[in-house]
Amino acid sequence: MRIRTLVGVALLSTGLLACTEQAAAPAHAAVSADAKTLQAHLEFLASDALEGRDTGSRGHEIAAQYIVSEFKALGLQPAGDDGTYYQRIKFRRSSLKEGSANFIVDTGAEQVELEFGKEFLMGPSAYAEKSEVTAPVVFVGYGLVSEEFGLNDYANVDVDGKIVVMLSGRPADLPSEEGAHLNSSKTRFAAERGAVGVISLHTPAREEVRPFKVSAMYQRAPSVTWLSPDGEPNLAYKNIVGSAYLDYQAAEPLFANAAISLDEIFAQLEKEEQPKPFELAVAVTMSRASEHEEISSPNVAGILPGSDPDLKDEFVLYTAHSDHIGMTQDLSQDDHINNGAMDNASGVSVLLETARMFVEAEQAPKRSILFLSVTAEERGLLGADYFAHFPTVPLQQIVANVNLDMPVLLYDFADVIAFGSTHSTLGESVAEAAGQYGIELSEDPMPEQAIFTRSDHYPFVKKGVPAVFLMTGFTAKGEEENGGEIWGQFFAEHYHRPSDETSLPINYQAGVVFTNINYEIGKTIANDPDRPRWLPDSFFADLD
Ligand SMILES: [Zn+2]
Repeated sequence: MRIRTLVGVALLSTGLLACTEQAAAPAHAAVSADAKTLQAHLEFLASDALEGRDTGSRGHEIAAQYIVSEFKALGLQPAGDDGTYYQRIKFRRSSLKEGSANFIVDTGAEQVELEFGKEFLMGPSAYAEKSEVTAPVVFVGYGLVSEEFGLNDYANVDVDGKIVVMLSGRPADLPSEEGAHLNSSKTRFAAERGAVGVISLHTPAREEVRPFKVSAMYQRAPSVTWLSPDGEPNLAYKNIVGSAYLDYQAAEPLFANAAISLDEIFAQLEKEEQPKPFELAVAVTMSRASEHEEISSPNVAGILPGSDPDLKDEFVLYTAHSDHIGMTQDLSQDDHINNGAMDNASGVSVLLETARMFVEAEQAPKRSILFLSVTAEERGLLGADYFAHFPTVPLQQIVANVNLDMPVLLYDFADVIAFGSTHSTLGESVAEAAGQYGIELSEDPMPEQAIFTRSDHYPFVKKGVPAVFLMTGFTAKGEEENGGEIWGQFFAEHYHRPSDETSLPINYQAGVVFTNINYEIGKTIANDPDRPRWLPDSFFADLD
C-alpha cells in the first residue's frame, strides 16, 4: 500500500456508524476461511528470513516460490509464462549520476544557473544515460485537460517542441479520486501535445503540506520502471527529454519576460481562479546523466477453471502484492527488516486462503478465477501495471478485479470501506457479501487520500476493468475497541516501518471474516449471468 502522510490522524478515531450486529456465518456457507491457515501464511511471508520482500531481492523470490507451491498444492492451473506460474518481469532501476543535473534559464539578458537540491530537483531518466534539452518555455497553469470538468490548460498555446511549466497539484474543487487520476496524467497531457520537457512548480500551498526541503530529502531514491518483452521502458513519453521540480522561490528568472508575474499567478490561486496559459519568452536547458541497472522479479498467476461452458472463458481476478519495501536504511534502529506483516503479507494470506476456499467449495464457480500475486507494488504498482499491459489471459475477458492490499487485521472490524464500489455495479456485490457476515459498508472516511487510485487494481481500472478494494472500516464490534483509533495508530506508528511485523496483536479471526467477505464477493461475480458494469456516470467508466 502506498499512502501519503495523513494529516490529522485524529479524524480516524471517530467511529463512523454504530454497529452492534454480531458476525454470523451465513447459513448456506459450506466453506470458511481458517484462522490457523491465515496465521501460518502470514507468519512465513512476514518472517525475518524474507528480509522485507523488496522487488528483485532473494527474500521476495522466496515469497513468490511459496505462493507458487501453494497454488500447485491447490491444483490451480499455471497462468504465467511458458506453462509456469511465474510471469517474470524485467525492471530497469535508474539513478541520477552525482553532480550531473543542470538547469539553466536563458532570459535573453543573462544565463541563470539554478542549484540542484536547493532550487530544483531532478530524477534520473529511464530512457537515456545522457540527456539534454534546450527549448522555449510555455506556462500551462496546472497542466490539466478534462472535458468533463471543463479544464484545458493547453487552450490557445502551442507546446510542440517546447518545455512546459506547470503548477504542482490541482484545483481544490476537483473531486479527490478524479483529481488524483488527472494529476497522474499531467506528463501524458504534455507529451501528447509534443512537449520536450516538463517543469513542475512548487507552490506556497504545496509548501504547507510538504515543504520543498522534504521532497529534496527523498530525491536520491532510484526510480524503477518495467521493461516490455522487447526491452522498452513502460512510460511511453519518450519525447519528454527533461523534467525537473522547481522551488517557486527560484522560479523568478522563468518569468523575467512575462506579462504576468509569478506572484500574480499565486494571487489568482488564492482566489481559486484558473491561471491562463501563456508563453514565457525564455529558454531553459536541462541536462542529466543516469545510470541504468537491470533487475528481475516475478508475478505469480494461477487459475481455477470455471464450470460453465460459456462463462468459463471469463475471469474474476484476485490480486495481492507480494513485495514490500525491504530493509531500512535507518541505522539508528536495531531492527532493519520491514516485514510488511499487514502490508501485504496479510493480503497475500487472504488471497491464498480465498483460493483454497474456491477449490474446496462444493460447487465450482461458473466463471474462472484468476489468482495473481503481483510484485513491485511499492515501486509504483509496477507488477500489476505490467500484467495489465501483458496479460496472460485476454484482458477483455477479465470481468472484475478484487484487490487485497493491507487489510489491517488488528481488531474486530464491524464495517468495511469498499473503494471503487460507487463506480460500478460491484457495489451491490460488496454490500450483499458483507451483509451476510453482519458487516456494514461505510463511506470512504478519507476521500482526500484518493485510495482508489493507489493500489494494484488501478492499472486494471485504467484498462477498463471494474474493480473493488476493501479496507477494514473504523468501527469495531465491541465497545472495548475503537477501530478508527487502532487503524490510525497502525498507520502512524507501524506503516512502512520495521514494526509492521508479527509481534503486532494480529486478530486472525478478523482475518477470517475479511477473507470470507472477499470470497463471497468473487463468488457472486463469478456466478452472476451478467458481468459487472461501470455505472454510466462514473468518471472511470471509459478511461482508456
Ligand atoms: Zn506499502
